[in-house]
Amino acid sequence: MNGLMMDYQLTLPTLLRRAESYNGDKEIVTRLPDKRFHRTTYAESCRRARALAVGLQNLGLKRGDRVATLCWNHYQHHEAYLGIPCGGFVLHTLNLRLHPNDLAYIATHAGDKAVIVDRSLMPLLEQFLDRTPIEHVLVVEDSYEELLASASADDWRDPELDENEAAAMCYTSGTTGMPKGVLYSHRSTMLHTLGVAAGNPMGLGVSESDSILPVVPMFHANAWGYPYLATMIGAKLVYPGQHLDPESLLDAFVQEKVTWTAGVPTIWLGILGLLDANPGKWDLAHMKGMLVGGSAAPRSMIAGFKERHGLDVVHGWGMTETSPVASTSQLPGELADVEADTQFDYIAMQGRPLPLVELRNRDVEGNILPWDGESMGELEVRGPWVAAGYYDTPEQAERWTEDGWFKTGDVVSMHPRGFIMIKDRSKDVIKSGGEWISSVELENALMAHPAIAEAAVIAIPDAKWDERPLAAVVLREGQAATAEDLRAFLEPNFAKWWLPDRYEFVAEIPKTSVGKFRKTELREMFATQPSGTGAPAPVASK
Ligand code: ADP
Repeated sequence: MNGLMMDYQLTLPTLLRRAESYNGDKEIVTRLPDKRFHRTTYAESCRRARALAVGLQNLGLKRGDRVATLCWNHYQHHEAYLGIPCGGFVLHTLNLRLHPNDLAYIATHAGDKAVIVDRSLMPLLEQFLDRTPIEHVLVVEDSYEELLASASADDWRDPELDENEAAAMCYTSGTTGMPKGVLYSHRSTMLHTLGVAAGNPMGLGVSESDSILPVVPMFHANAWGYPYLATMIGAKLVYPGQHLDPESLLDAFVQEKVTWTAGVPTIWLGILGLLDANPGKWDLAHMKGMLVGGSAAPRSMIAGFKERHGLDVVHGWGMTETSPVASTSQLPGELADVEADTQFDYIAMQGRPLPLVELRNRDVEGNILPWDGESMGELEVRGPWVAAGYYDTPEQAERWTEDGWFKTGDVVSMHPRGFIMIKDRSKDVIKSGGEWISSVELENALMAHPAIAEAAVIAIPDAKWDERPLAAVVLREGQAATAEDLRAFLEPNFAKWWLPDRYEFVAEIPKTSVGKFRKTELREMFATQPSGTGAPAPVASK
């Protein structure tokens, strides 16, 4: 017997209608290129999103056509997030930090028909445009405005989309092989938005009364869902434009009374350093905290924000393939009163899954591993906002199990309370003498050293042990530490054979297009090179 309920389609126009009806006067603020703040409302944003949809139809675009964006975080990009899918097209966010050759490949593979581009990014677009099928270029504050002016929002008709139609697409970084397209549906996007809206201790921890500043770029995995989440709940949005340096962000937090923000750890390490160096300069009394994800949030950073600045870190884990948020490390009620040190231990893990997301940890033989805090295997995930395949990519079968779970490539243990403990990406884990060493744990520990600003640990080839760890370390300004100091600092907390054999002091750690450590580059730098400024390599004992 079937239930007798409406077959209501989960599509993005619902968000438009809701935002206009109930939160039309809430604000969307943008930091313009000249650093002034531009202000608009959800009502105006929705009107312009509808006009964009009509304008794209007027250009002759057909349902399902891909419309790319090459933009920073701003109100026009927000309009594109809604207008493109609500017009029946597919929003394709291009990563403006990629090489033109990669962008040419991605835009061609996706079959992009049009692109909305920031004026400041035109020189980048010009380097690959003629190698793509893009027919229409809409320049923000220029031809984009003309398109909107020529189209009336009143002409917009709900295309009555099926919830399984594509709404957006985003390519993975391609650190392993060519970039692959993840194609989100209206349904998956709506369910992800509901999932991240779920209250504490799940979700992203925000509500209608918040003022949210997503530092995470809108080209990085749907800006982790914040544009749609804020539109659904009616929270004020503050977009930082291209001003992502710590000082500009802190100024924006104060000026716009930001309560919640989100981004990768490297951003927050910079901000924490600035806050520590300038006590009292920025009044963040109104601020609750931030979601940190994309790579592991160091425990020392989580503790530093809380103890010295009263700010909560919620640690999130996810992937482009999981829309992206799959788990968050908010503390469950029973841990509300435990001592702060224990709380930080929990927050430094990658949390428990959002409702509707399921996780399991399997070893290479396919056995499901227990939640014992130790057994290491590969994390697998399934749920309504997890990719079932890559766009137009025949050679993909190895990423999905026979029973339909997605293999994340993350090496994990599961804490007895069900918290994920990410040990490494499988390609970064250090295999020494047949055992695994977690680069993430070593990095976390090193970044707790007062002289260290950033640390990345990589595997380097070793004749005897196969691979051994090497730590690349960036010292804080005016601070000093030797390889012996760092070894002594790690020694009490690690088995001897885990300790890095080499420490290299570097000016900076190379970063990927979304601000993660680029370990491939570090490996190239050090794999064949003899020790630099580090101490002579101690012999690994095991
Ligand atoms: P890429 O890093 O390839 O550009 P993604 O943003 O999709 O693309 O990266 C997903 C990966 O990032 C995950 O598989 C995991 O390795 C890593 N990651 C994401 N969040 C965390 C976290 N909180 N802690 C540790 N690793 C994380």
